[in-house]
Amino acid sequence: MVHMGIYLIVFFIGLVFGSFLNVLIHRLPLGISLFNPIGSECPHCQHKISWYENIPLLSYLFLKGKCSSCSKPISAVYPVVELTTGIVTVLLYNQQLFDLDLILTAALFYNLIVLSFIDFKYKAVPDYLLIIAVLLTLAIGDWKNTLIFMGGFVLLELILTFYIQTIKAKMTKNKELESQRALGEGDIPIAGVIGGLLGIQLGISAIFLAAILALIPAIYGLVIKKEIETPFIPFLSLGLFIALITGFNLFALVV
Ligand SMILES: [Zn+2]
Repeated sequence: MVHMGIYLIVFFIGLVFGSFLNVLIHRLPLGISLFNPIGSECPHCQHKISWYENIPLLSYLFLKGKCSSCSKPISAVYPVVELTTGIVTVLLYNQQLFDLDLILTAALFYNLIVLSFIDFKYKAVPDYLLIIAVLLTLAIGDWKNTLIFMGGFVLLELILTFYIQTIKAKMTKNKELESQRALGEGDIPIAGVIGGLLGIQLGISAIFLAAILALIPAIYGLVIKKEIETPFIPFLSLGLFIALITGFNLFALVV
C-alpha cells in the first residue's frame, strides 16, 4: 500500500508539471511571457481561471471541457498533456533510481513533450528547446552515439531530399516537391537524443518504431487532408520512450 501511495504522489507531481508544460506549449510559440499574466485566462472571454478551475485533469472533467463563464470548449490538449506527463513521470520513476539522472531524464522528456505538442500544432519548433534537449542528452547519455545519430540523420536527410527534389519531382512532374525537404530541421537533434540515451541498437529500434507509428497519421494526412508534411518529432519522442521503457530491440528479434 505504501508503494501505491508513492506512485500516486509521483503521478500527481507529474500532473502538476504537465500543467506547467501546457503554459510553455501555449505561450512559447507566441512569445508570451511565462510570468505575465501569471494566471491563465479563457481565450474566448478572458475569464480569469481560478485555482480550483486549474487543478490538473480534475478541473477539465468537472467543467466537462467547457469554460465556466462562457461555456466555450476548452482545448482537449490541456488534459492530454497533463495525463501524458503524469504517465511519463510514473514510468520513469518506476525504471530509475531517484537521483540526479532521473531528474535530468524527466526534464529531457518534459522538453520532448513540449516540443512534440508545438510540432503538432505549428509543424515547427523553437531552436532553443532543441538545444536544451541535446545538452541534457550530453549530460546523461553517450556523446559519441549522440553525434553518430545526428550525423546519420544529416546523411539520410541529404539522400532523401535529393531523391524527392530531383527524381520524384521529375517523375511526378510536381513542382512543389522541388523545394520539399525530407525531414524537419528538428528531427536531427532529436535523433541525437535517441542515440545518446539508447545507444546504437535500441536507438535504431526506436527510430523504426517512430516510423511505423508515424505511418498511420502520415497516410491519413496525405489522403484525407492532402498534406505532405507530418510532424515527426512526436513520433520520434514516442519511439524513444517506448524503447527506453520496454527495452524493445529490433536486432534481438531479427538475429
Ligand atoms: Zn470563457
